[in-house]
Amino acid sequence: MVAVVAAVTVALVPGQATAATAAPATPAAEGFAAPLSLSAHRLGTAGQAQLDAITAHLPSDWQDRLAAFRAKLDVEQTSTERVADAIDPSQYECGPTAFRNYIDDLLAPVPPDTLFVLALLGVLDYATYDALFFGTPRNTADYGLPAGYKGPITKAFTNAQRFWDVNLFDVKSLAMQSDMLADHARVTRIIGVLFGVSEAEAAEVATEVQALLNSTPGLDGGANPIFTLNAFAFSAEGETDPIFEGIPDKMVFGEGLTEAMDVLGLGTTGAQAVVGHEMAHHVQYEQNLFDSPLTGPEATRRTELMADTFGTYQVAHKRGLGFNAVQLHRAEQAFYEVGDCSFDSPGHHGTPNQRLRAAVFGRQLAAKATAPFPVQPSLVLAEKFEKKLPNLVRPDAKNRPAA
Ligand SMILES: [Zn+2]
Repeated sequence: MVAVVAAVTVALVPGQATAATAAPATPAAEGFAAPLSLSAHRLGTAGQAQLDAITAHLPSDWQDRLAAFRAKLDVEQTSTERVADAIDPSQYECGPTAFRNYIDDLLAPVPPDTLFVLALLGVLDYATYDALFFGTPRNTADYGLPAGYKGPITKAFTNAQRFWDVNLFDVKSLAMQSDMLADHARVTRIIGVLFGVSEAEAAEVATEVQALLNSTPGLDGGANPIFTLNAFAFSAEGETDPIFEGIPDKMVFGEGLTEAMDVLGLGTTGAQAVVGHEMAHHVQYEQNLFDSPLTGPEATRRTELMADTFGTYQVAHKRGLGFNAVQLHRAEQAFYEVGDCSFDSPGHHGTPNQRLRAAVFGRQLAAKATAPFPVQPSLVLAEKFEKKLPNLVRPDAKNRPAA
């Protein structure tokens, strides 16, 4: 199975930056752009012209090709049963956090039509796909972590490898950088993969995409943090599709997310908590913890909250990063901030309150350890989480209607 799981659901609703919502950018991977269709949004004349200028260089079935590529990334999320599985929003207290407001600010100068065109073409995920397919820890020029974050992120990463009772030493840690979209060769390469076109065709498309990124207010030629505002865990273990052949397990941290951590005042401590979350996803891969009787948003919410609990357990535990009280508060705040209200999205990670509760639970589990501070087996921890889950997601709206 190929799976990409992210820390954040960054939602881009056609025509507006997401606040309380959004769908994952790819059907395949939470945290990426939403599966959009042309029919979902009426492009204005200028937007249509932008789209036409780019797609003139693509085969007429470019949307099908992109959809097929995304479907390969995560079969489970290609389902369109969103509404059928939706969680009742009236039961939950939920609203935009400082992180969601930060996203809105990033996208405020961008014309909605242009954002929609970029989402349609998958551009919001190019840096992610590039890191996934081509990133290596050795290529620090293109996939190196930002100065200031490199040490703390690497420390949290290697700590997780030693902390858990499964083998995570085959996971590669790298960054996706904000300058990827300014690199014509790399944009060409990923367009070739996404649309299955020749290098010459892909180069023409890349030129048009870059022209749009350069001419659109607020996008800074692709340097806007929105393009790398996530972190994810990737595994293609057991996958037979040749496009994933030879790709190792990865933990990718986005440069945009480090900028967000700075803006939110959470800094490297928040980033380390996110690393804990992503490495917890790798524990889930190894222990087959993704499967449950749940479907749709409830299924994703379960695995994401579990990663919040496991990640906080690691950073809180004496044999993990041993965070102090101030650091723990920041870690918990980080999970609160990235909560979302996308109750009808298969990429729903949990509300801010739920993510906070999941993190607090992880901290409490770690605090129970007494000398010599054993680390609980991951499957034991998972059992405790399953028991706690109904409490973590209990309805908490102040004036909720009867369920
Ligand atoms: Zn996650």
